[in-house]
Amino acid sequence: MPFINQDLPYEANHLEPIISARTVEFHYGKHQAGYASNLEVLTNGTAFSDMDLISVIKETVFDNDEAAIYNNAAQLWNHIFYWDGLKHAEKAKTGGALKGDFAEAVKAAFGSEENMKAKLIEAAVSIFGSGWAWLVLDPKTKLLSIVKTQNAGNPVTMDMVPLFTIDVWEHAYYLDYQNRRAEYAKALVEELADWGVVQERYGAAMSK
Ligand code: MN
Repeated sequence: MPFINQDLPYEANHLEPIISARTVEFHYGKHQAGYASNLEVLTNGTAFSDMDLISVIKETVFDNDEAAIYNNAAQLWNHIFYWDGLKHAEKAKTGGALKGDFAEAVKAAFGSEENMKAKLIEAAVSIFGSGWAWLVLDPKTKLLSIVKTQNAGNPVTMDMVPLFTIDVWEHAYYLDYQNRRAEYAKALVEELADWGVVQERYGAAMSK
């Protein structure tokens, strides 16, 4: 399977004014496309070329000799997941309360929806350097939590199920927010996160 840079689920200007079309064009069109083409070159003719991205990530994470494959595979997966967690429709813009089992799980883990969002923003702000802030489900305990990863890190390598992520590499926000990472993270969580998508991910993980 070739590792192509699959299409975004919306147009480049769909996330405005929180994330500009210019940022999306560079972030998706240059950075993400680079991870996809690097991975294609690195895995060509190897056993990894027939695997899905999650398998490649799990197979290479603890192998220093495969660090380049790991980094590009994880970055490609993380980006696809990031864009897909952002609003697909106007409904997400207006917020709307979380629903059902997912709302209860959020309340059980964080006390309230507001606190979960605050913790997610706090995690994004406190990552030193490049990385990702995640809302995850532990499939063993069925508990939600927030984790931070450095660089290309992905929670599947910690046996966690990712539900939502914030890219805090500077390329994700610098054109729009410069050094104001907190402003970007807050706007993303409060105005762009598609909680309907997150609820679906939670439901899928819980039904396994
Ligand atoms: Mn990125």
